[in-house]
Amino acid sequence: MDLLSSTPFSPIRHGLPSDFPALENDVTCDVAIIGAGVTGALAALHVAEAGFSVVVLDRRDVAQGSTAGSTGFLQYEIDVPLHRLARRLGEPDAVASYHACRDAVRHIGTLVRRLGLQADFAPRASLLLASRPRDEATLRREFAARERAGFSVEWWDRRAVARGSTLPHTAAILSRCGEAAEIDAYRFTHGLLAAARARGAIVCDRTAVAHTRPTARGVVLTTDRGARVRARHLVIAAGYEADVFLPEKVTALHSTFALVSEPLAAFPGWPADRALIWETAEPYVYLRTTVDRRILLGGLDEPFRDPVARDRLLGAKTGALLRRFRRWFPQIKLEVAYAWAGTFATTPDGLPFIGVHAARPHTFFALGYGGNGITYSLTAARILRDRLLGRVNREARLFEFSRDARSGRAEK
Ligand SMILES: Cc1cc2nc3c(=O)[nH]c(=O)nc-3n(C[C@H](O)[C@H](O)[C@H](O)COP(=O)(O)OP(=O)(O)OC[C@H]3O[C@@H](n4cnc5c(N)ncnc54)[C@H](O)[C@@H]3O)c2cc1C
Repeated sequence: MDLLSSTPFSPIRHGLPSDFPALENDVTCDVAIIGAGVTGALAALHVAEAGFSVVVLDRRDVAQGSTAGSTGFLQYEIDVPLHRLARRLGEPDAVASYHACRDAVRHIGTLVRRLGLQADFAPRASLLLASRPRDEATLRREFAARERAGFSVEWWDRRAVARGSTLPHTAAILSRCGEAAEIDAYRFTHGLLAAARARGAIVCDRTAVAHTRPTARGVVLTTDRGARVRARHLVIAAGYEADVFLPEKVTALHSTFALVSEPLAAFPGWPADRALIWETAEPYVYLRTTVDRRILLGGLDEPFRDPVARDRLLGAKTGALLRRFRRWFPQIKLEVAYAWAGTFATTPDGLPFIGVHAARPHTFFALGYGGNGITYSLTAARILRDRLLGRVNREARLFEFSRDARSGRAEK
């Protein structure tokens, strides 16, 4: 699958921090992971730190799937608002899902500090804008739900928005600094894989898994180079290409667009100390500043995945993103450095699929679909580690494949 157009920014800026061999010989391990994006890298590190032998395989160079195109927002706020998720799942499970995302943002910060990773990580506030005045009532309901759930939020009315920014919006929810963060997902992934390798993990790229076969005691993988991996457990961290490992389709694939500016000296009119910003409209626009003083702007998703049609739209989408930006920040002269398009997966409830599937023995799926892909990747790694160690993980049931059948409250 063609996951990205040709110029995602981070690999251009940071090059190849380290390289990895292809797998040429047969190998045996406790855990084999398919995919060396941010999900596979987090899984590899957690499993290696827990004392298991790990082999990670990727058909591309590592981190060159969706992870290379990510804009690196880390938020507890998922694509389905909390008050709507509560209607679907019931309030306790909806709140627990949101809390899991908030915990994941914090765990990622802790991991970056503990390992000393160069990942452009910074804690931030996050501002959710009412795109139109008529969205205000829904935003109010969302604010109440978040306050009830214990999030550190503040209501901004028209005056507060005007006082704190040049934004023309009439209302917004501010999630205070530390509830959100930003990261460079590509650098983060390279750092994680280096740390996993230092703990004994074998990481191989340019090695596609062509075939998997369950056995009585595990799984045998055959690669396109003919080498075999025998593992007690298989982890599928193949991102938006994971469908081939599942008996049914669990996602819808979309196209999404992003751009990054040249560095800027200042950000006049930017709210709340360079908060992450997004809005209630669907599809939405989102933007943030970067540690090296650029602006990242993205969104305007389209509900198809055809990469040719997607890349043909890149110029028009870049223009539309810029027009929106100029309305919101008339004092900032933004010059586009790079623009790119990517494939993106969503689920009906905005939650990922993490866990085992009845049709695939000895196999754990770590599919962080949705706008919060990276926080889900962290959650998946912790659930996986706990499962292997036989520990209880209270978040595991929230994201399992069977959750809709359990809740019996599917919202249409
Ligand atoms: C433009 C864009 C912006 C985004 N912005 C954000 C954001 O701001 N915040 C956020 O949280 N998320 C964001 N996302 C989503 C986020 O990037 C993804 O959730 C995350 O990168 C997924 O990581 P992954 O490791 O699961 O998948 P990937 O990075 O795609 O990694 C999967 C890997 O599996 C490998 N693979 C697949 N099949 C095989 C096989 N058979 N054999 C061997 N290897 C295989 C692939 O080569 C690939 O490298 C964005 C995505 C896009 C496209």
